[in-house]
Amino acid sequence: MRTLVFIIILAFVCNFTIAQNKDELMGFADVSDSSEWVRKGEVILKKEVFEAFDKMSADAAKEGVMLRIIVGYRTFKTQKITWDYKWNESNRSHLSKKERVLNIMNYFAMPSTSRHHWGTDIDLNSTKLAYYETDYGKKIYSWLCKNAHKYGFYQPYTAGRSKGYKEEKWHWSYYPIASTYEQQFLSLVTNSDITGFSGSEMTEEIDVINNWVRLK
Ligand SMILES: [Zn+2]
Repeated sequence: MRTLVFIIILAFVCNFTIAQNKDELMGFADVSDSSEWVRKGEVILKKEVFEAFDKMSADAAKEGVMLRIIVGYRTFKTQKITWDYKWNESNRSHLSKKERVLNIMNYFAMPSTSRHHWGTDIDLNSTKLAYYETDYGKKIYSWLCKNAHKYGFYQPYTAGRSKGYKEEKWHWSYYPIASTYEQQFLSLVTNSDITGFSGSEMTEEIDVINNWVRLK
């Protein structure tokens, strides 16, 4: 009897946790919990991620590499505003729905599927390709390639991947948490859960989860 009660309680707790995680993974996290989240100016991140970034940027600065977060946590709502703006841009108006989705998703995630929803991922310094062609941009990127892993960060969207986003030299992910979130996302969220914005009816056809969220 005691075992049965324990199993029922455990099932209830697990269910509760899973439901919370699913929302959190899809851009509906409650960031007001200061034991888990930190806000500095416009940037919000998981506390542990901010601490790791602060260490990394302090060490980088000693070598003349100034790291600045330009994007941290993003809500579903924020992602949707930018998505809809891109959807309606005139240079995409001649494209079919599917072409439009694929074109936006060269560099920008569908609402619900962005790693920025997790509070574990950051865009650094500039999201312009030309920046990384300048001497200073090259210096920043080469410092990150050599050192970011020491602080837990890695570049998820590298060059030469056969699916998903194009290379993003600015996007860095905090592996200790993000790797778990990625696995949780893959097991909890389905393509049909991703909805509520222009073009969301394409999620199944392009298999957004396996081709964009799943890194390997
Ligand atoms: Zn990013």
